[in-house]
Amino acid sequence: MEPHAYPDLWQRTLSLIQKSHYYDKETFDSWISKTELFKIENGKAYIIYPTMITLNILNTREGIQLIQSTLQEILNESVSVQFISKQDAKKLIPEVQLQTRTANLMKTDFNEDYTFENFIEGNSNAEAYAACLSCCTQKNHLFNPIMIYGNSGLGKTHLLHAIGNYLKKEKPETKVFYSYSGDLVSILLDAMKARSVHGNAVELVKSQLVENDYFLIDDIQNLQSSSSQEVFFTVYNELIRRNAQIVITSDTHPSELKNLPNRLVSRFSSGLAVNIVKPEFDTSKAILKKKLEGNEEACLIDEDVLDYLANKFSNDVRNLEGSLNKLIFNATLENPEIIDLDFAQRILMKEPIVSERSELTIKKIKKAVTRFYGLTYSDIEGKSRQKKLMNARQVFIYLSRELLHKAYVSIGQELGNRDHTTISSSYERAQMLIKTDPNFKTAVEKIKTLLEKN
Ligand code: ADP
Ligand code: MG
Repeated sequence: MEPHAYPDLWQRTLSLIQKSHYYDKETFDSWISKTELFKIENGKAYIIYPTMITLNILNTREGIQLIQSTLQEILNESVSVQFISKQDAKKLIPEVQLQTRTANLMKTDFNEDYTFENFIEGNSNAEAYAACLSCCTQKNHLFNPIMIYGNSGLGKTHLLHAIGNYLKKEKPETKVFYSYSGDLVSILLDAMKARSVHGNAVELVKSQLVENDYFLIDDIQNLQSSSSQEVFFTVYNELIRRNAQIVITSDTHPSELKNLPNRLVSRFSSGLAVNIVKPEFDTSKAILKKKLEGNEEACLIDEDVLDYLANKFSNDVRNLEGSLNKLIFNATLENPEIIDLDFAQRILMKEPIVSERSELTIKKIKKAVTRFYGLTYSDIEGKSRQKKLMNARQVFIYLSRELLHKAYVSIGQELGNRDHTTISSSYERAQMLIKTDPNFKTAVEKIKTLLEKN
C-alpha cells in the first residue's frame, strides 16, 4: 500500500467508527479521533495512540474488533491491529525509510536516451562498447567483472544504462540492478542503523541485492565507507558465485582505486578492465550529428562549426553536447540565417561553461559557497544553526548533488562529518526551497555562475 494512502484510509476508518456509535461523541472526539495509522505491513495495521487513555479505551476485545472489521470493510482484506506509542513510531521510522529507499533503489529507471543505438562507437570507446553489448547477448559471462574506467563525461554511465535498457527490452525477465556507488553506500548505512522489527535489515538488503542477474555499479570510487565495503564484499562474492554479471565503472584504473581495500580491488582486476578515452575527431563529429538528428536547426549549422566543436570540446562529451545546445539555444533567440563559425565563436567565447576549464570538484563548490556568503570553512563545517550558515550548507549540499551527484556520505564528510541522513534531509529541504524561496534560488544561480568562471 502506498504510504500517502494512509491519512485518507484512516479518516474513512474513523468516520465509520464514529457512525457506528459504539463510542459516545465525547469519547470519540477527545481520544479516538486523535489516533493515526502509521502503516500497514504484512497484514498488520500499526496504530499510533496519542495518550495512555486512548490506549485503554481502544485496547479491548471489542475495540480491536471494531477497528479490524472497519479496516477490513474498506480494504477488503483482513488485518490485525497493533497499537504503538509515538515513541515506538519514531523507532520504526528508520525501517520505513529504509524500505521505501531500498524499494526505490531496487527498481531502477533507466534513462531511455542512453541506449546502445544512441551510443556512437569509435576507437576511443570500442572495447567498452563491445564488452557491454556482449555481456547482454552472451549466455556465459566470459568476463566478470567488467570494469570500465576513464575520465568523467566519456559515456560510462551511458553504457551502464544501455545495458539496462537493452535487457529490459530483449530479456524482460532478467533482474538488473543499477546504482551509483554513493547511493548504495547510503542504503547500506541506513540498513545498518535501522532497527528492523522483522529480522536483520542488512540481511534483508543483502538478500535483495544478490538476487540480481546483472549488477551495475557506477563510479565505484565513491564506495568509501569501510562498513559498507564490508557488506559490498560479501554481496559481490555471492553474486559471482551465482554467476551474475557485474559491471563496474570507475574514474581510474582499478589498481589506482586508493580508497578501496586491496581484496576488493584485486577482485575487480580479475575480470576485464577496459579503458574509455576522449573521442577522436570523427567520433566527436558523429556524436554531434547524432544529437542533431531530427532537430530543425540542424540544417542551419555549417559543417565547419561541427569541426570547430569537435576539435575544441572533445575532452568531455558532456561539454561537447553542451556547446552544441548552447548554439542551438542562442540560434532560437537570435534567429540567424545560418550558424557559421563567427556565430559559434561569438556565442561560445562568452560561455564559460564550455571553455576548457578545469574540472569541477566538491572542494571548489565549498569554496564558492563560503566565498559567496563570506564564511570560513569552520563556519560551514561547524554546528551553529544560525540562519545564514544553515542556508550556506543547504546550498552547498544542493549543488554537490546537482552538479556532481555526490553521495550524501561524501557531502557529510565535507561538512564536518555530518551524518548522511542529515544531509539527505537537508537536500530534500533544499529541493523544496529552490521552488519556493526566490532568495535561495538566486543564491544557487549566482554560485553556479561563480563556479562556471573558475
Ligand atoms: P560518464 O559517466 O563517463 O561521466 P556519461 O555517460 O554521463 O559520462 O556521458 C556524458 C554525456 O555524453 C551523456 O549525455 C552521454 O549520452 C554522452 N555520450 C558520451 N559518450 C557518448 C557516445 N560515444 N555517443 C553518444 N553519446 C555519448
Ligand atoms: Mg557517470
